[in-house]
Amino acid sequence: MSVANIRAIIFDVDGVLFAGKQVISGAPETIRLLKKAGKKLAVVSNNTSHTVEMFLRKFHGAGMPFAYEEIKVATRVTAEYIREKKPGARVYLVGSAGYAEELRKAGLQLTEEGVEADFLVVGNDREISYARYDQGLQALLHGAEFIAANRDPIMPTEEGLKPGCGCLVAGFSAMCGREPDVTIGKPSPQMLKSALKMLGVLAEESLMVGDLLESDIVGAKGLGMQTALVLTGNGEASRKRITHQTTPDYIWPDLNGLRNLL
Ligand SMILES: [Mg+2]
Repeated sequence: MSVANIRAIIFDVDGVLFAGKQVISGAPETIRLLKKAGKKLAVVSNNTSHTVEMFLRKFHGAGMPFAYEEIKVATRVTAEYIREKKPGARVYLVGSAGYAEELRKAGLQLTEEGVEADFLVVGNDREISYARYDQGLQALLHGAEFIAANRDPIMPTEEGLKPGCGCLVAGFSAMCGREPDVTIGKPSPQMLKSALKMLGVLAEESLMVGDLLESDIVGAKGLGMQTALVLTGNGEASRKRITHQTTPDYIWPDLNGLRNLL
């Protein structure tokens, strides 16, 4: 494998481009240089609360010139997945206002009645209640397809680790004795496949850059992509867990390592 073959680069967001709200040093310059050099770029995130517009504001505010179509966040990829499978489908959502907005934009109907739903979508819902668990359960009992935004059991926030989407998903799985039919976020291939399709490149011609071994590196390797672990964010801790099967193609202290591709 050679960096010369890399036509497209897909970035994880948290720990790679940003540490929470802080821009990681060198990220905006590197993104601009790669764009100038004609590389195809995309970002992927397991985030279940942000719309594409929210991400765009964050990137543009930090001087990273990503375009609308280049943002493949779990909320949007969920909406695209459902729209492709059943346009106008009825969805019972356990999730945030941003998630709801992204589903509505795709022409899907959000229902408050679980029994009516074609799909149960589970994201991270900081206001989860017994009633929502109940409606989600009714959706599954009445044949809805079970979609998990991601399976991350906990998530890092500015206030430390908090319960993640995966713990809500586990609740529904426990009630029904079944796993989700589809998981959108990393390390599941759904989101990366969607990014590769948008970029119009083969997995082998593209590089995934991430800080989390189990999610970014393992997911991308599974698809045959090249992989780079950066040691920002959770990268240093990830490096200690590398095994023979999960060795990334490249390990760089930060995104400046990408300048080797120019
Ligand atoms: Mg990350």
